[in-house]
Amino acid sequence: MVSFSSTNRVAPVATTIKQAYVSPRQNVPSRQAIALISDHGDPAAAIGKEEAGGQNVYVRQVGEALAKLGWQVDMFTRKTRPEDPAIVQHTPHCRTIRLVAGPEQFIPRDQLFKYMPEFVEAFQAFQSKEGTNYPLVHTNYWLSAWVGLQLKAQHNIQLVHTYHSLGAVKYQAVPNRPAIADQRLAIERQVLEQAHCVVATSPQEQDALRTLVSTQGHIEVIPCGTDITTFHAIPKSEARGTLGFDNGDAIVLYVGRFDPRKGIETVVRACAQLKAGAVHKPQGATGTALNPDKLRLVVVGGSDADNADGLERARIEQLVRETGLVDQTTFAGQIGHNLLPLYYTAADVCVIPSHYEPFGLVAIEAMACGTPVVASDVGGLKFTVVPDETGLLVPPQDTDAFAQAIDRVLTDELWARKLRRQAPIRVQQNFSWSGVAVHLSDLYRRLLAQSISDTLFITPSRLAQPEKREVYTARPEIAAATLTKVS
Ligand code: UDP
Repeated sequence: MVSFSSTNRVAPVATTIKQAYVSPRQNVPSRQAIALISDHGDPAAAIGKEEAGGQNVYVRQVGEALAKLGWQVDMFTRKTRPEDPAIVQHTPHCRTIRLVAGPEQFIPRDQLFKYMPEFVEAFQAFQSKEGTNYPLVHTNYWLSAWVGLQLKAQHNIQLVHTYHSLGAVKYQAVPNRPAIADQRLAIERQVLEQAHCVVATSPQEQDALRTLVSTQGHIEVIPCGTDITTFHAIPKSEARGTLGFDNGDAIVLYVGRFDPRKGIETVVRACAQLKAGAVHKPQGATGTALNPDKLRLVVVGGSDADNADGLERARIEQLVRETGLVDQTTFAGQIGHNLLPLYYTAADVCVIPSHYEPFGLVAIEAMACGTPVVASDVGGLKFTVVPDETGLLVPPQDTDAFAQAIDRVLTDELWARKLRRQAPIRVQQNFSWSGVAVHLSDLYRRLLAQSISDTLFITPSRLAQPEKREVYTARPEIAAATLTKVS
C-alpha cells in the first residue's frame, strides 16, 4: 500500500492534509489514483508493429508494477479503432482508458499534434465523469508532454515525464526533418524546464538532455526494465526443438519494429559477409571457423503492408534476395512476449543494429534469456550492454564491425559461454520492472509529499513570486529545511 508517511520532517503535517489528494472514487477508496499518459503508445495494444514497441511495453509494465505497489493506475491513450473497448482492465487496480481525440484510426505520430487539445478535453471530461482528480500525471513522449503541460497550467498536479525518444538526437540522424520538428523540439525543452521531474532511462539520455535540450530542470535516472519471470534462460535445444530450428545452426536474431532507424539492413549485410567468409578475424582470435551453410538469420517483428513498416519490410526482403540469403533467413512476423523467450534462447546472438536507441528493451530481454548481444554503440545500449561481459558494442551502420563481432560470438565458444552466464545476472540486478517501479513509486511519493508541504507552507511573499512555486527538489529533507525557515 502506498503510504505518505515518511521519516522526513514534512511527513507529520503531510498526513493531516493527505485527504485532499485521495481519489474520491468509491470503488477504490484506499488507493491513490495516478495517471500515466501515452497518447500514441496504447499499453493494451499488440506490440512489435507500426509505432507499437518499447513505449507501449514500458507504460503497461510500469503501470501494472505500480498497481502491485499500491497505486490505482489509470493509463490514458488515444483510441485508434472504433471496435476497441474504451476501457481495458489489466488487473484490479490498473486499466487502459482510450480517449477519443481525432479520428478513430491509426495516424502517424508526426501528424498527431493537432489532436492533442481534444485529448486534453477528453481527459478532463473523463476526470469529471469519474469524480477523480489525478494529483500526479506521468507523461510519455513529447505529444503527451504537451498534454501534461496544459494540465499543469490548469491544475495543481505533479508532472513527471519520460521522453522515450528525443527529437534533438533523432533529427541529427535523419536527412529531412519533418514539418513538426520545431514544435517538437520546443515542447521537449519546455517539459524539461517545467516538469517537476524528467525521468531519463540511462545516464546517456541524461547527458543528451543536458547538452542538447536544456541545462535547467530536474532529471532523475531510472532505467527501463524487463519481466524476469517471463524472460529467463531455458535449455537452448528445447527452445530450438519447439521452434523447429536445427541444433547445429548458428542463429543470428533481430527483434523489433521494421523502421529504417532500427538498422536491419546492417545485420543483413553483415550476415552476407559471414556467409561469404569475408570476415576479417583480428590477430590472436581464438575459436573455430564458422560453417557458412549453418548460418541462419531470424527476423522477428510485425508489419502491415499498408503502413511504413510494410515498406521497410519489403525493402529488407529485397535486400535478403540480393545478398543471396533467402534460404537462410526466416521472417517470423510479430511474436508475443509469451513466445519471445523461446526465440531469444534459441539464438546464439541477438543483434541490435539501431542508428540510435534511447534505451532498447530488446537488449535486456535477450540478456535476461542468457543470449549475448551485439549492439550499436549508441544511446541506452551503451548503458545496458557491457562489452566483453554481456556482449559487444560496435559503431552503428558499420557492416564490417558487426560481421566481426557476430563472428566472434558464433565461433569463440568458451568466451560466448562466459557472456551467456553473465548477461542474465546483469539484468536481474539492474533491470527488473519491479525494481524500476519501486524507484518510480518513491519518486512519486516524494513529489506528492513535496506538493503537500508547498501548499501548507506557502506564504504571501512566495505567492507574489510565482517562479518560487515552481522550485522542486527531489530531496525532501532539503525542502523541509527550507520550508521550515519560510514558515
Ligand atoms: N516486440 C514484441 N514482438 C515483436 C517485436 C518486438 O513484443 O514481434 C517488443 C520487444 O520484445 C520489446 C519492444 O517490442 O519489448 C521493442 O522495444 P525497444 O525498446 O527495443 O524498441 P522500440 O520499439 O521502443 O524502438
